[in-house]
Amino acid sequence: MKKILFIILDGLGDRPIKELGNKTPLEAAKTPNFDFLASNGVCGLIKPVYQGSFPSSKDAHLSLFGYDLKKWRMNRGVFEVLGIGMDLKKEDIALRGNFSTVDSNFKIIDRRAGRIPDTKPLVKALHGMTIQGVKFLLGIGVSYRLGIILRGKYLSDKISDGDFHKAGIKAPKILAKENRKEAKFTAKVLNEFLLKSHQILKNHPLNKKRIKKGQLPANYILVRTAGKLKKLPSFEKKWKLKSCCVAGGVLYKGIANVFKMDLIRVKEATGKSDTNLQGKIKAAKKSLNKYDFCYLHIKATDNFSHDGDFLGKKKFIEKVDKNLPILFNMKNTLIVVTGDHSTPCKVKEHTADPLPVLVFGSKKDEVRKFSEKECAKGKIGRIKSFGFMKKVLTCNF
Ligand SMILES: [Zn+2]
Repeated sequence: MKKILFIILDGLGDRPIKELGNKTPLEAAKTPNFDFLASNGVCGLIKPVYQGSFPSSKDAHLSLFGYDLKKWRMNRGVFEVLGIGMDLKKEDIALRGNFSTVDSNFKIIDRRAGRIPDTKPLVKALHGMTIQGVKFLLGIGVSYRLGIILRGKYLSDKISDGDFHKAGIKAPKILAKENRKEAKFTAKVLNEFLLKSHQILKNHPLNKKRIKKGQLPANYILVRTAGKLKKLPSFEKKWKLKSCCVAGGVLYKGIANVFKMDLIRVKEATGKSDTNLQGKIKAAKKSLNKYDFCYLHIKATDNFSHDGDFLGKKKFIEKVDKNLPILFNMKNTLIVVTGDHSTPCKVKEHTADPLPVLVFGSKKDEVRKFSEKECAKGKIGRIKSFGFMKKVLTCNF
């Protein structure tokens, strides 16, 4: 059985861009090493799965790794709290949150509280608060972000978001999304928590200091995407592969946690364009001495896409490419390269456009370049994401 290095470049797929001579960033990029892998492997297109209006990263990952969304779909809050290392239990409700700035009428001034860099003292001041038997546990995220767990009886994740991704409006109240007492109770205690937190935050010394310095106070928490953990079969159990993950972004660490993949820590793996690419790729290679499967996630392709920065995306793809040659001498290993969904730079949002994929280490086809257009001619053909893992494991191309 071959080992597998599964590389996901987030939001890789794109559409032709006029300024790039009607090429996609991947087509326009100089990628001799991706092209080497494509030339000596098999290629194709993966159709990402989606529910709702566009594919989310977490749903796309679940499906790509062979988990049926009809059965295993979970809200983003779950992945976020796990990704920042909080301990989530089956009955808990998980939410993601932002420290934000509101005025005295709860009008949102800034959804990110001036991108406050360190919220440790604020989280400490609120962590462990109990309201009507429900305990509120808080975890520190990156910059202004945080994770929140509600622990107690009679809780439900069928509650609305307290954040519409909009400033200038009054902070939305949490509402029950179904007519059951658990949902109503959860909305009520969460609203109460948000009010009490506001009282504590607005008087917190850190915020008083920020105001003095002319900075925005982090005086309110905007919460969203409440979810509950489902105990899905681990990746190892499902595919009989001892697996690990190398990732910088919180969500992807959360995804690895849900799959019970071991997380390999790499210094300066940030999930941004300044990430330690070389360190991540080296760590992924080394991990396969011990593991059968390594999931390597690279995030910045998606960040550039959301900003509409096609030149940045192209350059970043080239930077990844430069770091690939150390993988060429791996024995008995399949290297898979694809994305989770497309994020065209001109759309700036995720789309369900098919994604290029290459599998190096087994068979060969006629494709010589790793790109959306060329991969369409490959031996893998067009395949839905859900069936892909099985094909890789059986090398059935
Ligand atoms: Zn993604």
